[in-house]
Amino acid sequence: SEETYDVVVIGAGGAGLIAAIEAKAHGANVVILEKMPFVGGNTLVSGGEFNAPNTWVQEKLGIEDSVEQYYTDTLKAGDFEGDEELIRTLAENITEGGEWLRDSVNVEFIEDYLMHFGGHSVPRAIYPIGGSGVELIQKLGAHAEAKDIPIKLSMKAEKILTDDNDRVVGVEATDVTGRTVTFHAEKAVIIATGGFGANYELTKKYNSEIDERYKGTIQKGTMGDGILMAEEIGADLMGMEHIQTYPTCNPLTGNLSYVADTRFDGAVLVNKEGQRFVEEMERRDVISKGILAQTDSIAYLVWDKTIKENSHMDKYQVEFDNMEKQNLIIKADTLEEAAAFFDIDEKQLLETIKTYNGYVQEGQDKDFNRRGKLVALTEGPYYIQKVAPAIHHTMGGIKINSEARVIDKDGNPIEGLFAAGEVTGGIHGTNRLGGNAISDLIVFGRIAGQTAAK
Ligand code: ADP
Repeated sequence: SEETYDVVVIGAGGAGLIAAIEAKAHGANVVILEKMPFVGGNTLVSGGEFNAPNTWVQEKLGIEDSVEQYYTDTLKAGDFEGDEELIRTLAENITEGGEWLRDSVNVEFIEDYLMHFGGHSVPRAIYPIGGSGVELIQKLGAHAEAKDIPIKLSMKAEKILTDDNDRVVGVEATDVTGRTVTFHAEKAVIIATGGFGANYELTKKYNSEIDERYKGTIQKGTMGDGILMAEEIGADLMGMEHIQTYPTCNPLTGNLSYVADTRFDGAVLVNKEGQRFVEEMERRDVISKGILAQTDSIAYLVWDKTIKENSHMDKYQVEFDNMEKQNLIIKADTLEEAAAFFDIDEKQLLETIKTYNGYVQEGQDKDFNRRGKLVALTEGPYYIQKVAPAIHHTMGGIKINSEARVIDKDGNPIEGLFAAGEVTGGIHGTNRLGGNAISDLIVFGRIAGQTAAK
């Protein structure tokens, strides 16, 4: 069957919902195609925080910041491999984007708190209520519905259609029964299909170190469909080899573990042989690789009562309970008991912790030079959590310009084609800062929608 709209948006994550809402607000007749039976993508399961300089929250907290400072932090974090024009566009527009989410979409934020992710000069990440992407997606979904934007669920875009002049004119999709549906786009197609972290064929193609040993990201939709479809009609890609992993995830689901943040409060990382193998405060990629080199490509995070009490662990009781059911965490009176649960070498573990406690007393970790405060593990109950690295974000993707137009291999915009969100490359360079994925999708989702409607 066939349907006709002004603008066809592929993907109903943060970027796609925002692009569709803006396109509609600028007068276009819009549809969203979503291959999963639900909306939200990885945005839904993210922390939902986004960075912005000079916001109302920074003002309230008396934090001085600037567009320039945010621009520089972002460029530097990506080893200067990001696109300067895109990063400038991000830095100059995100604050207004945040106000738009607050005022037009009614997203609620914590008004007197900012997260300070690593690599940012000052705290600048605005925090949605609930501390997750659920608030963003619920409000965006409700807004799209109120504006009568149809969202076709279980509708998988397969191919971007072009005319004889290489202008993009629509999308071919399959519905849940496998039937082909053609969506004609009179003005534009916007690709907002997210990253490719669950597609090992692609991750391996661009970075041979990132293979099945890493758990996939939680959303199975993250297959890079949009990247492949755009490439097929001549789009240029950039930064595809830059894939971010996170070291301490749930080994069964790939979910980033918040309980495992006890690492920042003093927990010690060991292998099945009961030995430490990496500095616990190392970069995400170094710890991830370190874990993969251990028996079963697994590591165990060990902490005691004191560390638990210094941590925010209690905030994540639901995660803790789930991991208990999955046999991924144990709380026991003694270290031996906890070690036995996971079949970790008990004798060696006791030895390792004894040595470590000695280092704490001396004030220096002689094995790995652990940074930050050293805390001895002396008091039960003890906790051991099984962790593994997972693919967290793909920095590379479709090349766009500051109007969110897709750029072809000769450096020219492809008529009628836009992209926004994780599917694009260029903003994050080699390394994305915490909180910058949502900033990216807000700014470029809006720009894509506004420009596509013209
Ligand atoms: P972003 O953060 O860039 O918005 P998300 O991961 O939040 O990315 O959202 C991307 C959405 O696109 C997901 O909901 C995913 O299921 C959807 N998607 C991916 N590929 C396709 C496709 N071929 N057709 C339709 N939807 C797709």
